[in-house]
Amino acid sequence: MADTVNNAVTMEKLVSLAKRRGFVFQSSEIYGGLSSAWDYGPLGVELKNRVRDFWWREMTQLHDDIVGLDAAIMMHPRVWEASGHVANFTDPLVDCKNCKNRFREDQLPEDNRRARRCPECGGPLTEPRNFNLMFKTHIGPVEDEASVVYLRPETAQGIYVNFRNVVQSSRVKIPFGIAQIGKAFRNEITTKNFIFRTCEFEQMEMQFFVKPDEDGRWFEHWKSERMAYYAKLGVRPEKLRFRQHGADELAFYAKIAFDIEYEFPFGWKELEGIHDRTNYDLSRHAEYSGKDLNFLDEESHERYIPYIIETSAGLTRTVLMILADAYEEQEVPGEEESRVVMHFHPKIAPITVGVFPLVKKDGLAEIAREIEKGLREDFSTFYDQGGAIGRRYRRQDEIGTPYCLTVDYQTKEDKTVTLRFRDSMEQIRVPISELSERIRTEIKAYKRVGS
Ligand code: ATP
Repeated sequence: MADTVNNAVTMEKLVSLAKRRGFVFQSSEIYGGLSSAWDYGPLGVELKNRVRDFWWREMTQLHDDIVGLDAAIMMHPRVWEASGHVANFTDPLVDCKNCKNRFREDQLPEDNRRARRCPECGGPLTEPRNFNLMFKTHIGPVEDEASVVYLRPETAQGIYVNFRNVVQSSRVKIPFGIAQIGKAFRNEITTKNFIFRTCEFEQMEMQFFVKPDEDGRWFEHWKSERMAYYAKLGVRPEKLRFRQHGADELAFYAKIAFDIEYEFPFGWKELEGIHDRTNYDLSRHAEYSGKDLNFLDEESHERYIPYIIETSAGLTRTVLMILADAYEEQEVPGEEESRVVMHFHPKIAPITVGVFPLVKKDGLAEIAREIEKGLREDFSTFYDQGGAIGRRYRRQDEIGTPYCLTVDYQTKEDKTVTLRFRDSMEQIRVPISELSERIRTEIKAYKRVGS
């Protein structure tokens, strides 16, 4: 069994591993990079897609009362007036008159805020100015007020404005939910901590429509469902907690709000928000559009504007959380170098099975290739025949491949291979004919080993 060398994963280590192994690259890097924009490399896109698919499956396939949607990023500008974003989606911006650094006033340490002095250099700060976070552009060749469109700052509004369409076209009955995953854009004043806060990001949102007097019950329901989801995703429970919004930070439309927070290397931060948005959104859209957004309950013959319980998670922020949560550096008995292992849950690991011949010669490579081809139908695989076997295992540990199998001379005699488990480094012999089934069983039963 290996011992943890250093549990305190740092952002430097994560950013370096992410770049070195092709998870996340700085955007436009050859031009010096674009601040706060990031690209997902060959392994990063696999990880992100798997997290996305995992959420989608959890929220739609496993709930017969939730349907999906994929709305356009650009929407009618009135949407953002109705939603309150044009008037209220602002951050208070302050500048340091001395070092010219820019901050969100509400994020300054209390002392700096009171003294109106810069946390970087101690210089004087300007008065706060409200800065709207929406990116504004124009449709068509004329840049006038009539052609203004915004890049959506959240995916939620696409769901609200389609409420009537979904009710009329699907056989949904309240209570029901609409789920959506997509890009959102915010002109954030301060973007730091890698992919934690970026101007372009992805959200996974589910809006659940309920009867006005049943919001409390559903709010509690979704709070516990969402926490249970992270356990299923393989996240260490001691790194997660709820935090209730105080009256001073509650959004104007929200009745009650909780964040699910994760303990990132830079502290406890929001991962997901769960909000009781009351009937604010649909009432406003009814008012601004002039359309009737009441729901007619066919059984009780009641008409009402539903309340909405929202669960809003960041996909790209979840990827950072997964990277941080998976990382471990271990001392391996009898080995000089420590090993870095990413404990991704096998359901979201970019590669599920690494396949190696012990050596290239004597027909072992051909057998390994054949096995790898056979497994491709069911799993994402990676074939590697280069270098010492120990090194090949380490490379897969570092990208979080949960299972590796090695073809050796015994394979030619008894048609078995070595199956090695990433977390425990335990090795067993498994008949080639049973590999698919065995791996499937292991994925279902997976429990993280190590810290
Ligand atoms: P903050 O107050 O930190 O700016 P928020 O409370 O406005 O964030 P929400 O509007 O509740 O965030 O967004 C829901 C989720 O979307 C967040 O929990 C987060 O995971 C994700 N998210 C929001 N803004 C960003 C961003 N700039 N970059 C990456 N993810 C984001």
